[in-house]
Formats: sequence, structure tokens, C-alpha cells
Amino acid sequence: MALQLSNTIKNYINGELIEPVGKKWLDNYNPATGEVYGQLPDSDEHDVNMAVSAAEEAFPAWSALSKLQRSDYLKKIADLILANLDELAMAESIDNGKPYWLAKKVDIPRAAENFSFFSTAILQWKDEANHMDGNYVNYTLHQPLGAVACISPWNLPLYLFTWKIAPALVTGNCVVAKPSEITPMTAFLLSQICIQAGLPKGVLNIVHGLGTKAGDALISHSNIQAISFTGGTKTGAYIAAKAAPIFKKLSLELGGKNPNIIFEDCDYDKMLSTTLRSSFENQGQICLCGSRILVQRSIYEKFKTDFVAAVKALKVGDPLQDDSKMGAIVSKQHYEKIVSCIQLAEDEGGVILCGGSPLQLDGRCAEGWFIAPTVIENLGPHCRTNQEEIFGPVVTLQAFDTEEEALALANASSYGLAATIWTTNMAKANRMAAGVESGIIWLNCWLVRDLRTPFGGMKNSGVGREGGVHALEFFTETKNICIPLH
Ligand code: NAD
Repeated sequence: MALQLSNTIKNYINGELIEPVGKKWLDNYNPATGEVYGQLPDSDEHDVNMAVSAAEEAFPAWSALSKLQRSDYLKKIADLILANLDELAMAESIDNGKPYWLAKKVDIPRAAENFSFFSTAILQWKDEANHMDGNYVNYTLHQPLGAVACISPWNLPLYLFTWKIAPALVTGNCVVAKPSEITPMTAFLLSQICIQAGLPKGVLNIVHGLGTKAGDALISHSNIQAISFTGGTKTGAYIAAKAAPIFKKLSLELGGKNPNIIFEDCDYDKMLSTTLRSSFENQGQICLCGSRILVQRSIYEKFKTDFVAAVKALKVGDPLQDDSKMGAIVSKQHYEKIVSCIQLAEDEGGVILCGGSPLQLDGRCAEGWFIAPTVIENLGPHCRTNQEEIFGPVVTLQAFDTEEEALALANASSYGLAATIWTTNMAKANRMAAGVESGIIWLNCWLVRDLRTPFGGMKNSGVGREGGVHALEFFTETKNICIPLH
């Protein structure tokens, strides 16, 4: 059955698509045109309370199903996502401003993979047994928590939303999920897919609305047992302050200011083409993009010349055209923030090597929010431009001489999410990897993801790890049972 591509988004509560109790709505924008193209619920605590109650009611039956039964539901959802690949990719592109080809190649297939991966991961997950000198044996149980919250941002809307929901569901929890109010459309389409998949009512509930209203009501709800949150560091700190005193389990995946460290002995061509992607894919709006490019001084000038030439050749255009390498910035507010960050960089003494300004496109995108990919040099590690997350198509270049200096520059940040290191000397690569303060390190590659690996940040980039067994553990309570053998 085809998805209903309605521009009026509804909440998905207790198995039904319903309007918000307060009948209040928010505008939904198309960033490529700057136009309002639909509405989404401006939900409040009444909607959240209904969703939490539905999740709690569904929990006993859902958690009593066998792992295989829950796995089958997830597989069905994965298949339906792939069956609707074109519609979902188009919806994601319109809602977010990202190129349609990118949504079709990366975002939507990955959303399906999140469900299919966890549908099999749960079947392979083993409990522990510890034998004590022949006298006692201990074994562990991993039990679901109950009603849990999953809150996600706008940059990879369906991809990150499902990355949380899939492990939460497969471990036997019931979920109240809130997508970003800036990109709600594919979460709405996921509701329809869950209905088509026959997911029992109340197992997944999706409440749309503002973070400060619907989101706040969700994290404050006393019957929510755990919060899996991906978003900004400031929001994460707020959620931690509210949730920690009432002892909710917390997983916080937050912001970054990732270093991309380039040594003179790297595979230069591979490094250059990958650095172009790691700087500007999805308009630089990926938490894993490298925004501080650190280059060994001996190749600095060559890199600068080649990189700037390649960046100038990147086509920023209508997200629906196949040759647009970059699309629109997600919202007017974020666009204005990025423009002000570029102004700040100039005020701090930065030299703009290319880009540095908004772009005015022709035709249907004339009122859209586009920014030219921007490269800046002449800034030290401690200025605001090199300290604060911009989360847009803006990178800086800094030169270093020695490995020690590279490490010091890489770690001169309050964030610690991801880092990329380019060198063909593997001993140096591994030394650097051990020293860089980041949860995720790519050596001579970028954004290669094995869903079994731990994913998360150090320092201000978050607390906890997602992925593989780490996610399964987060969404369960581990219980140890000790038995005498005699
Ligand atoms: P955000 O923190 O503004 O919002 C994220 C989500 O939290 C949204 O759904 C929002 O509605 C909700 N929210 C906001 N205030 C809330 C509150 N008081 N209570 C409950 N929920 C609330 O972040 P954003 O602007 O949507 O996303 C961009 C940020 O996300 C960047 O900092 C980026 O680095 C980060 N991010 C991190 C990762 C990662 O894996 N570490 C991945 C993607 C994005």
C-alpha cells in the first residue's frame, strides 16, 4: 500500500494517526524554496501523557513476545522502508534541503539497515555466565526497561530516529519518540509504515512538536525510564540536569568540532577527495564532518591550492537535481547562524579563501537558504571559530610541523566526537589514534560505519555509546543471578 503523502502531519499514538489535543500546529518549511509547505502538531504534555500511557499499556505484551517475534516486526519495517525508498528520499530532501540523490543513497537505506541490523543483532546477543571456583555460578538477564524516550535532530532525520528506535523496540521496550520539529516528515511516514507492518498499538508512539514543549514534557515524565538523545550539547546538558536527579538512564550523543589531521606522507589524492566529502557532505551538517583541517606545513600550500580549487567546483544547487553536490541549509535560523559565524571568523582575523557568503539561486530556489562552501585560514586554535560548533559548510585550515603539535591542535577543543587521520605510516597513525581525544577515529578513511561498533563521543560530545551490543545494553537493565552449585 502506498504511503499517504499528506502535508498535514499527525501524531502516532496508540496505533492511530491523530491530531494534537490542543489543536495547535506549527509550520513546516521547505528550505530549498523558503516556503511553508505543510503543518505539524505543536504537541504539549497532554499528547505526551497519552503517548506514555499507550507505551506503558503495550509494554507487558510486547516485552513478553519472543526475540524472534520482535525481530520479525523489525524486518517487516525494514522491508517496507526499502519498498518506499523513492517516496521517503523525496520527502527527506524536501523537508531537510539535502540532495535527493544523497537521501536515496545514504539516509533511507541506512534507516532500513538500522531495523534489519538490530532485528538480527538481538538473535545473536548472549547473556553472561560466570563460574566461581566450582561453588557458585552467576548468570545475567537483560530485561527491558518499560516506556523509553528517543529524541533526534534534523540533520539525518530518519537515519538517526531509527538508529534509536530499532534497538529500543527489539529489546522489548515501548517507545515514545520525538523527531526534530524542523524535519518531521519522514517520521510521519514511518508511522504509516509501522501501521502497515502491523506493529501492535502503543509499541511505538511518535509525538511531534517543539523541543521546549513536547520534548520537555517527554524528558520530565516520571514514567519514562530512559532517554536516548542526539542533538546539541546545550540541550544535552539541560536534559542531563533534569533527568539525572530522577535517575533515568541517559545516552547523550552531542555536538562536535572534529579535527581532520593530514600528514605529508598521506595518500594525497585519496585524502583530498575524502576531505572534500568530510568537510561538505550534507552541507557540512553531519556531526562527524571534520571542521578543523590540520595540515603538515610542508604540504600546506599545495593542499590549500588544490582543496580551494576543488571546493570552488562543488555545485550548490536545487536538491532535486542530480548534479547538485550540496543543497540548502535546513532552516532560516540555522542559515542566519552560519552567516554570523562566518562574519565572526572575519572579525577574528580569518582570511576567507573561498565561499564566505550566502548564495542566491535562480528559479524555484530563489528564496531558499543556500551558503557557498567556505574555507578559512589564519586563525589560531583558541579563537571562537575554532572552538564553537558551526555545523554548516565552513571549515578552517591550520598548519602544524610535528606530530606532537598535530596532537595538541587536535585536542585543543572541548569536544571529542570524531577525528580523521591521514598518513601511510601506520605506527604514527596508531600513536595518533591513541592520543586524540575522540570517541571515533578514522585512519585514512571517513564515515565508514560498521553498526556493531561503539559510537559516541568524549568530553562535551556526550555520554555513553550507541551501536551493536552497546545500544542493546543501554535499553536493558542487567540483572545478575547467583546460584550455589551444591
Ligand atoms: P537540538 O539540541 O536543538 O535538538 C535536538 C532534538 O532535541 C530535537 O528533536 C529537539 O526538538 C529536541 N529538544 C530541544 N530542546 C529540548 C528539551 N528542552 N527537551 C527535550 N527535547 C528537546 O539539536 P539540533 O539543532 O536539532 O541538531 C544539531 C545538533 O545535533 C548539533 O550539535 C550536532 O552536532 C548534533 N548531532 C550529534 C550527533 C551525534 O551522534 N553525536 C549526530 C547528529 C547531530
